Amino acid sequence: MRISELGEFGLIRNIQSLSLRKSSSALIGIGDDAAALKVSSSKILLVTTDMLLEEIHFDFSFTDFHSLGWKSAAVNLSDIAAMGGVPRYCLTSIGIPDYISVEQIKDFYRGFHSLMSTHKTVLVGGDTCHSRSGMVISVTVLGEVNKKNLLSRAGAKPGDRVFVTGTLGDSAAGLEILKKKAKSRGGMAKGAEARTLIARHLRPVPRTAEGRAIAHSGCASAMIDISDGLSSDISHICEQSGVGAEIRSDRIPISPSLMKLSGGLTMPVLFYALSGGEDYELLLTVPPGKIKRLQSLNVPVTEIGTIKRGKVVLLVDGSNRKRRLQPGGYDHFRRTKVT
Ligand code: ADP
Ligand code: MG
Repeated sequence: MRISELGEFGLIRNIQSLSLRKSSSALIGIGDDAAALKVSSSKILLVTTDMLLEEIHFDFSFTDFHSLGWKSAAVNLSDIAAMGGVPRYCLTSIGIPDYISVEQIKDFYRGFHSLMSTHKTVLVGGDTCHSRSGMVISVTVLGEVNKKNLLSRAGAKPGDRVFVTGTLGDSAAGLEILKKKAKSRGGMAKGAEARTLIARHLRPVPRTAEGRAIAHSGCASAMIDISDGLSSDISHICEQSGVGAEIRSDRIPISPSLMKLSGGLTMPVLFYALSGGEDYELLLTVPPGKIKRLQSLNVPVTEIGTIKRGKVVLLVDGSNRKRRLQPGGYDHFRRTKVT
């Protein structure tokens, strides 16, 4: 069977089923933003790892090394944030092709540490190899969380409200602007709005403090970071929690910059917000009785829907028309994007 028939998540399920041993101290294993490993009766070790591959995740025609280092840190810190944890240590493994210089690698690490050091996260190891086909980056972050504050993708209940931090779609729109700019050799993408969207793509800011505040308050029943896109990530929460959801398309928060530039983009704004991905915002579910507690935190959140019984995820528009919301984020093997 071809891997493209199975897709990324189908393949991961196959890998998971071949795992020979289970451990009772692995409270959360494959299937969440980070693994949660019990180290004492109250402390949990969080471990997450993510790869960034040249031409898949980044392109040197529009990514500088400093931003690439920053982003490699951000995507992993975001997974620790989604569990409500505090990042502590990290490891970096890199495959370097011939055309990359020492100075460029140093720029990568300057960008990497500029974000990691604001999180007091220390580089403690890794691996360095030569690559024959493109740069390969693999970052692992170790973090911690008190057992009582641990949040996972499972735990959403019918009636819970769905919230998202910040705004969605900027990163994907920023990528489109960068691609157009690269094609026209820097001829486009002037202006503050375009720069804002580009920055959200190249240097995303993980919601670590917000994730921690949400976890400490005890208001959320489930949480995930939006890396694949809202449509995919809400389905991850629903699958892991055994529930369905209704998401209101007219409530999805869109930034003023994206609204302003929407006329010049190839797709409607909602496409970027639902399926664009790489937002690195947090998506969480909150029981109605705890919404006030969430709103009392200093975290910018918008209510975008409700958790329902069943398994179906629906998108409801302003006229109450409902349609099925298919996971539309990037699948590494299907290589398709659907709204
Ligand atoms: P995220 O987007 O939050 O980084 P992914 O979609 O990459 O999460 O991965 C989903 C889950 O599958 C995670 O728990 C991850 O650790 C696990 N996973 C992905 N690939 C593998 C693999 N090759 N072996 C074991 N676990 C994997
Ligand atoms: Mg994640």
